[in-house]
Amino acid sequence: MNINKKVSLLFIIIFIFSFVLISFIVKSRVVNIESIEEKITINNVKKVQSILNNYYEKVENISYEYSTHDLLLNYIKNNDTQSLNSFFINKPDFMKKLNLSYFILLDENKKPLISKYYDLSSEEQMAVPEELFSFLNKTSFNKLSLSSKNRYVTLNFEKVLFSFEKVLVNNEVAGYVFTGRAINSSFLTKISDTIGDYASLVSNYGVDDFSKISFENDVIDYKIKVQDTDKLFYYLKFYDVLEKQNFYIRFQNSRDVYNNMIVELKYILFLFLAMFFFTMIVFFIFINKLFVNRINYIANIVKKVSLNETLKYQLRVSYDDEISYLIRKINEMFRVINAQQDLTLKKERDFLQSVLDTQQNIIMITDGKEIQSVNRKFKEIFFNTDNFLENIALIDNKTKANFMAVAKRYNNKDMPAKFKLIDDQEMYFTFQVSKLDIRKYLICMNDVSTLNHKINHLTFKASTDELTSVYNKSTITNYAKRWLEDKDFSMIIFDIDFFKKINDTYGHYVGDCILKELAKLISKEISKDDILGRFGGEEFLLLIDDTSSVNIIKIANRVRKVVEKEIFEIDEHKIQVTISMGCTVCIYDEKFETVYKRADEALYEAKKTGRNKVVFY
Ligand code: GH3
Ligand code: MG
Ligand code: MG
Repeated sequence: MNINKKVSLLFIIIFIFSFVLISFIVKSRVVNIESIEEKITINNVKKVQSILNNYYEKVENISYEYSTHDLLLNYIKNNDTQSLNSFFINKPDFMKKLNLSYFILLDENKKPLISKYYDLSSEEQMAVPEELFSFLNKTSFNKLSLSSKNRYVTLNFEKVLFSFEKVLVNNEVAGYVFTGRAINSSFLTKISDTIGDYASLVSNYGVDDFSKISFENDVIDYKIKVQDTDKLFYYLKFYDVLEKQNFYIRFQNSRDVYNNMIVELKYILFLFLAMFFFTMIVFFIFINKLFVNRINYIANIVKKVSLNETLKYQLRVSYDDEISYLIRKINEMFRVINAQQDLTLKKERDFLQSVLDTQQNIIMITDGKEIQSVNRKFKEIFFNTDNFLENIALIDNKTKANFMAVAKRYNNKDMPAKFKLIDDQEMYFTFQVSKLDIRKYLICMNDVSTLNHKINHLTFKASTDELTSVYNKSTITNYAKRWLEDKDFSMIIFDIDFFKKINDTYGHYVGDCILKELAKLISKEISKDDILGRFGGEEFLLLIDDTSSVNIIKIANRVRKVVEKEIFEIDEHKIQVTISMGCTVCIYDEKFETVYKRADEALYEAKKTGRNKVVFY
């Protein structure tokens, strides 16, 4: 797995881990928010209970006040309803002022002395329902005053928070005071306003799965019911001592705290995620730039080094850290290996150079353009490569450029290349070109100047007639045959007239001299493209690069006349000779024998018809 994949995998793992962690945190936060909401709700429950307790205290205080009122004590003890009535006639608004719904004074037998019901909503005085009296009669005092649970009764379809007090005279029960506050709509509104949640009375809740909480030496039964994301109900359970059943105050909460906190959580979560992703990206870029890219860069260079088998690469150092330290070490390693390789190569080169230097051939190694190395022999002859390339010209094609092409042209040829050195000395070299690799050639030059001279001399000797120095029979025959394979031309055969006589008269030596002088004379007379050869004895063959019979006859006659006029002075003798000439035009592809025969017949004709003349066939 390469480093890119590893880093990507690492980031995926970090992402998954973070995702799980964030999910866990979110879940626990939500649970926390719910528990905060529950705490707030319980707090509200306590607040409600506190308000109710407060109201109860008020009602109780009123009861107590009236149960200990000196004047009223006597009236009650004496069942003096008249006095009681007149007492309360003087206080028409006392119920409104005390915020009281019910005010009842009873005698020791729980018979009503004074009973008042004031509807706080409509501000109307009304009769106390009979059922209250019968209830009070039936129920023992202790039962009604033991706990906070027994503080509620239903009267006139309203729940009433009440207090029931004994009126004691000399520690004996003289009567009772009943005070009550109706839990009507305005009462509920007040609670709603204080708590902030809408309050209502509910008679039946159904399942009795209430929780309990201690509060001010009492126990509150409450229940929290989450309806949906926008609605939460909580119930407080109370007992109606008259109806002998539970009733409930229900509060409706719009879950603002919960929703606000969730929104807040989402916002924080969003910010956290954004920060997280931003950090991840920055971290990724950072890791890529600082590590991955650099490691890949090192890997690529090392790969290149191993593929190209060259250590010329040097790694760039970008920062001052551990990777840079590694890069420096790799560079150092490259340098050391390179130096060692150089040393080995140098040793090999030196060895090869010494081998090359022992060679008597001129050896050079070239890439085709530049000469890279040469041996000692090369330096002995050409001094150095610049001198070789710039100042030494190839005579036969007069070029210094493209030495490689020249070398290839002469590679393994029989013919040596002719060089002209600075001091105008001519030298001959043969070439052998060997390919060492794609761009390297080994060129081996052999100095064949001496040999060439000897060969030239021998060649010349073999092709010329020793006496006259013109071409001999085989050379002139070859020339004639070669021309026949190539073109039309003319052939002249001439023969000295009565030469036997000259030999006989002046001796063989003089005859030889005449032959020599005659060849020289005729050579001068003909053009340099024409070829003259001694065919045998005193007979010569002349090849002329012209096909016009008129021209040939003209040339032949000119030559004949030159010979005729020439006086050969040999020793004390002055000798004149004539020649007879047979001419013919040779046609391309004719056989040598055919054309020779034709010219010879013309010569025969010339001899036969008087000599010193030209006959054209
Ligand atoms: P014609 O006019 O018919 O040619 O008469 P000719 O005497 O020249 O002819 P012939 O063939 O009878 O004689 C040729 C002579 O040329 C014979 C020979 O002695 C002489 N000869 C041939 N080669 C040489 C040579 O190399 N040196 C000398 N000195 N004489 C030669
Ligand atoms: Mg002759
Ligand atoms: Mg002859």
